[in-house]
Amino acid sequence: MKKLYKLLPLLITPLLLGIAPISHSQEYPSRPISIVVPFAAGGPTDAVARLLAVPMTKYLGQTMVVENTLGAGGTIAANRVAKSPKDGYMVLFHHIGISTAPSLYSKLPYDTLNDFEYIGQVISAPMTLIGRKNLPANNFKELLAYIQQNKDKVTLANAGPGAVSQLCGMLFTSQLGIPLTQIPYKGTGPAITDILGGQVDLLCDQTTNTLTYIKADKVKLFGTTTLQRLSSLPDVPTLNEQGLKGFQVVAWHGMYASKGTPQPVLDKLNAALKYALADPDVRTRLRELNVEIAKPEDITPASLKHLVETEVKKWAPIIKASGSYIE
Ligand code: ASP
Repeated sequence: MKKLYKLLPLLITPLLLGIAPISHSQEYPSRPISIVVPFAAGGPTDAVARLLAVPMTKYLGQTMVVENTLGAGGTIAANRVAKSPKDGYMVLFHHIGISTAPSLYSKLPYDTLNDFEYIGQVISAPMTLIGRKNLPANNFKELLAYIQQNKDKVTLANAGPGAVSQLCGMLFTSQLGIPLTQIPYKGTGPAITDILGGQVDLLCDQTTNTLTYIKADKVKLFGTTTLQRLSSLPDVPTLNEQGLKGFQVVAWHGMYASKGTPQPVLDKLNAALKYALADPDVRTRLRELNVEIAKPEDITPASLKHLVETEVKKWAPIIKASGSYIE
């Protein structure tokens, strides 16, 4: 009965529109669906995808399988989904990097604004500048002094060109006027492992990944990347407060399918995403990590499309001015 209830909108909507139901969307989904994550397991994008996969599986009645497709700052994963069959069996869960890639890469194998169907906004996460526990600096002022004295030695981890950690690092070094050595990883999961092991000095990453280690006192925290202090870290000054005027990086995430995916399939994926973001366990876990959940009116294709278009335009001049361009 429950299943029939779920199928009703798919059966009735085409009839109301006077068109014959499309046979494959009628059955959708009849097999597992891949959520392609552009970064390594253990990082914030991966963590949120795995959290969403559980209620989405429940809603769709088919398993949502997380697949980590790594490399080139998320562009390999984005291209994979852009080129996938238009059937809704592969979706992309990506962050702000989808909108910075067109300015960072001279040649992208896909068209950011025209090769995707937008499913909806998902979350946005603030970021934190953290360092290895045995770094001699104990606060931002001491960090600046340490960087000045060790310009050639200090290393800054990131998840590759186009990653939001790289964007944050790029803004940080350009505001300092000191080009630190950046160490690319395949995701901030492995990067944080090296911060914990003391192999790399600094990382700017989402609270989704860092808050647990900050609270457990396993890393040093030098500031946050929002203009307002975070509710989870009310005593920690923002980087803006500490002298990096206007410093603001927030990692927003969205869900996409390949262009041409049938509307009933997209509607079902959107409904599953809304269902997942309304799940009390998911909401509690995300809030614990200081992650903001998209409002219902933003878990929509139109809202995500507008966000991507706005962000592509916003970052283009900033990235151009920074000189970060990948041939
Ligand atoms: N936080 C990463 C980034 O810097 C990606 C990840 O591992 O989720 O883009």
